[in-house]
Amino acid sequence: MRLVQCACHQISANGFMALSPADMGYSSRPVPASAGPVDRAILEDLAAASRILADQGVVDAFGHVSMRHPARPDRFLMSRSLAPALVSADDIMEFDLDCEACEARGRSGFLERFIHGEIYKQRADVNSVVHSHSPSVIPFGLTGVPMRAMYHNAAFLAGGAPIFNIHDKFGATDMLVGNHQKGAELARILGQNPIALMRAHGSVATGPSLSIAVFRAVYTEVNARLQLQTHALAGGGLIAALDQEEGVKADAVNITSASRAWDLWKRRVGM
Ligand SMILES: [Zn+2]
Repeated sequence: MRLVQCACHQISANGFMALSPADMGYSSRPVPASAGPVDRAILEDLAAASRILADQGVVDAFGHVSMRHPARPDRFLMSRSLAPALVSADDIMEFDLDCEACEARGRSGFLERFIHGEIYKQRADVNSVVHSHSPSVIPFGLTGVPMRAMYHNAAFLAGGAPIFNIHDKFGATDMLVGNHQKGAELARILGQNPIALMRAHGSVATGPSLSIAVFRAVYTEVNARLQLQTHALAGGGLIAALDQEEGVKADAVNITSASRAWDLWKRRVGM
């Protein structure tokens, strides 16, 4: 296809406007140096996480998971733009925290990778991030009904989950976190919480490890289903959710036992 250059966009020969690299979240910065090869087992675990999230109904054709580079805290690992159930170790790319690919080799990163890079910048304790549009969570980002911890597996929600309303700062948008500014604002709203909801979009789950972030993403969706059922049953009456002290105690147990869920879920996806 023949391209004709204009001031900041490219116009194809048939007259359609193509997005410039800047519009698509890419910059003209030099390509960052790779931190070097990553153990194949780590890449396979990240691919497994992607498939687990699909198998558990947290992601469908969309959504993604990343992990901080095990040797370089200023790098993270994430699949190329691909449906999560199809990800394999060979699809994993390395990015710096400005979300520039170290070795793109013709591969494209996810448009919303800025969610990940900006959270890693602001949260040194976070080593893995999941972004999903899991359906049962969506109502809680629309209504302002607080998400609460319905049971011990979702104890990480006992402190609540803030809502990122992209309209507050950016006005009417396409709802996607497609640049640094939007990613940084989402990370700011997330604060020190493990989960943030995203109005009319989805949610983000974080953790100190890949398996904990996946655990939290899965149980955020399960908890949302339970809470919707509980509201229907309670009919406006009392809901005896975990309080914050119970949440802290129960989450400590979850963190030590999440590997049991991880082992099961990994086997389910044949990895
Ligand atoms: Zn999204």
